[in-house]
Amino acid sequence: MDISSLTVDVVKEGLQARRFSAVELTTEALRHAREENPKTNAYLHFSDERALATARCVDEKLARGEDPGLLAGVPVAIKDVIVTQGVRTTCGSKLLAGYVPPYDATAVTRLEQAGAVMIGKTNCDEFAMGSSNENSAFGPVRNPHAPDRVPGGSSGGSAAAVAQGTAVVALGSDTGGSVRQPASFCGVVGVTPTYGRVSRYGLTAFASSLDHIGPLARNVRDAAQVLRAIAGRDALDSTSAEAPIPDYTAQLDGNVKSMKLGLPREYLKDLTSETGDLISKGIETLQKMGCEVREISLPTTDYAIGCYYIIATAEASSNLARYDGVRYTFRSRSSETLSDMYRKTRGEGFGAECKRRIMLGTYVLSAGYYDAYYLKAQKVRTLIARDFSNAFSQVDAIVAPVSPFPAFKIGEKLDDPMAMYLSDIYTITGDLAGIPCMSVPCGKTAEGLPVGMQILAKHFDEARMFRLADAFERSGGASN
Ligand code: GLN
Repeated sequence: MDISSLTVDVVKEGLQARRFSAVELTTEALRHAREENPKTNAYLHFSDERALATARCVDEKLARGEDPGLLAGVPVAIKDVIVTQGVRTTCGSKLLAGYVPPYDATAVTRLEQAGAVMIGKTNCDEFAMGSSNENSAFGPVRNPHAPDRVPGGSSGGSAAAVAQGTAVVALGSDTGGSVRQPASFCGVVGVTPTYGRVSRYGLTAFASSLDHIGPLARNVRDAAQVLRAIAGRDALDSTSAEAPIPDYTAQLDGNVKSMKLGLPREYLKDLTSETGDLISKGIETLQKMGCEVREISLPTTDYAIGCYYIIATAEASSNLARYDGVRYTFRSRSSETLSDMYRKTRGEGFGAECKRRIMLGTYVLSAGYYDAYYLKAQKVRTLIARDFSNAFSQVDAIVAPVSPFPAFKIGEKLDDPMAMYLSDIYTITGDLAGIPCMSVPCGKTAEGLPVGMQILAKHFDEARMFRLADAFERSGGASN
């Protein structure tokens, strides 16, 4: 059984035809993932017991002739910022190195209800802060396409696991690009749904007003099926939406004729020439397919990174206050007083990037600076969202690059946070506006590095976004 060639539909068909059982598939998936993991460090831990229990459940349902679910038997990997009952959840941080949550995230519960089998938890930047996976306390992840390069971040482990072929699909989280950018760097599909589409219950909070859970997959169809399984209102997350969930796959008919697409001129400025060429070829493909592509303007784009790093750090400084050495696992051993214990626990437990963000966030929220920074950033956020609403009055969807450059070398941008933050210049805006957006493979550079095309759509219009992405995928992207 070749795990790396499976898709959701192939698994479904194999189980129905009794070519393999869910337990056999799971056993092989766990073996394969363990064997391959030293090449990438994509997984932090495996969840054999739980995986086999879910698989047995699927086999029993099949034996009884019951529907085993939309994702029956499908091996999935879960980013380690998403909590899993009884399975260690570290958030890539030394502070939570031994943390075993007492409950499941809603997205995980829903995946398992759909029959999916969680095989393990994936590496990520500490508390999802980063663009390269180098901020993990448990070592960097290597890009399966080029082992000396990063897989992107912060969901680098989830993207690498799917690209490497050890998981059929995975869950990541996206606050400023952390699903789409690693998907682009690793040559897989990555989806950031509308804010509120998927419950955040059990997603460890980084910046609550921007955090999304989203699927990574080898093709658009699989990603759409995962989103369908995890989407929907959840009483445990008051920001989750009541909106109806369409059957996305029913709409993947390849017909995108006359679809009006906007290409934002501000997103073509900082591209490397190879990325620019691939995106241009991808656009030509879309035109050949019958789409009408026109240039549009999103004039507030220049302010997006500044706006994001104020709002995200402000929220992060508040969300990370809970790691105090009392409520969670890690506590410094050398302190004598209570305040000393707080200081040392946080000083020893957090990595440099988290500390940088806590300091910045505390600063922008402090008396005297709140109006000048935080409040101003909130106003800019509204303007960015307005740019998108204006654009969607003229076009059905927006197409753009995901990142200005392909996967960079491990270590290359570590000493220059500003250069690292630029990785997300085209992805941050979608999170700030709360609209659905995704990365779909576009092509590869001469060195064989994948480059993704980004598609952005109106709030809750994932169906149209998937239809376009699926048609683009079928057409062969930039190589058409
Ligand atoms: N790279 C961005 C950051 O470091 C986005 C991270 C994310 O989406 N979680 O904040």
